[in-house]
Amino acid sequence: MKVFYEHDADLRVLEGKRIGVIGYGNQGRAQALNLRDSGVSVQVGNLEDEYAKTARVDGFSPVPIADAARDADIVMILIPDEVQPAVFKSEIAPHLHSGQTLSFASGYNVHFGMVVPPKDIDVIMVAPRTIGRQVRIAYEGGGGVNADVDVWQDCSGAAWAVTLAIAKGIGCTRAGAFHTSFATEVELDLFSEQALWPALFECLVTAYEFLIEKGYPKEAVVLELYASEEPADIFLQMARQGIFEQMRFHSPTSQYGVLSRRAGATGGNAQLRKRMEEALDHIRSGRFAAEWRDEELAGYPALHRLRKQALEHPINAADRTVRSLMPANA
Ligand code: NDP
Repeated sequence: MKVFYEHDADLRVLEGKRIGVIGYGNQGRAQALNLRDSGVSVQVGNLEDEYAKTARVDGFSPVPIADAARDADIVMILIPDEVQPAVFKSEIAPHLHSGQTLSFASGYNVHFGMVVPPKDIDVIMVAPRTIGRQVRIAYEGGGGVNADVDVWQDCSGAAWAVTLAIAKGIGCTRAGAFHTSFATEVELDLFSEQALWPALFECLVTAYEFLIEKGYPKEAVVLELYASEEPADIFLQMARQGIFEQMRFHSPTSQYGVLSRRAGATGGNAQLRKRMEEALDHIRSGRFAAEWRDEELAGYPALHRLRKQALEHPINAADRTVRSLMPANA
């Protein structure tokens, strides 16, 4: 796979160009600040609300989304995926003109055909692989985060140069920008969210319920399962050393326990693979995108109900108790 680094990208491509950052949330704020610190001219487009206030505090002068879309050479769409089709239709598309570049931080809407860009502009993707907060923290520390990059439509012949310059301005070429595709980016992202993370969350909550039933103190259980930050350290070392290589940091007892019980730990891989198959099929067919669009149109009733249910689980009280016992939070 082609991976782009600092020497592959030239920030001079963005000289004299204005970047319109649409949305000042997780990614919008981090990317706008990084690009500005990289010497790029940035205008923030946002509704007049709390996000706009934050942009002002950060030294930007936010304008309405339509103005930012009209005035920018490169329009970076950094609002939530599910609201992009409506905002694109009403606030962005009517103001686009030939010669502009439309940039996405996920392949979601273009890949599923929910945003159809005009034929006479460049369409690119620079999708950081982690949360906006980390995009900013890594950049400020002199590093960066990985990104998926791709070009969907190259009218100008310069789309790749712009893609890599943006990746560099955000800090992503410091870590490596991977050339995947709009489809791969979004399908893998949704797969993690819908097949991998639910299984991990369910394992943790089931383990909590089981151990409480067996009479263990809730503080000790939560500490063991995740509050000590040991799992976070394990994941960090998986990324840095390799999934099994990092095991050398653990005791032989731990290594033997994990390796001897790994097979069959999920109650049979056939069941797990079946669930993964169903999830991927739902994603690839566009049925998930349609489900999520309907949920957004209805005002997120299921999301609100599910969030409420999750936050009412007793594990949340245990979380609070454990956190109150940590010196940093006491
Ligand atoms: P956020 O939820 O943080 O976006 C919030 C911003 O979107 C605010 O500026 C908000 O302003 C604006 N917004 C929300 N609803 C509307 C609306 N209906 N009309 C106009 N503006 C709206 O988004 P993220 O940063 O999480 O995601 C942005 C993009 O980045 C997505 O494509 C996502 O897939 C991608 N991405 C996200 C990552 C993450 O970790 N969060 C990681 C990598 C990529 P206001 O409320 O004023 O309208």
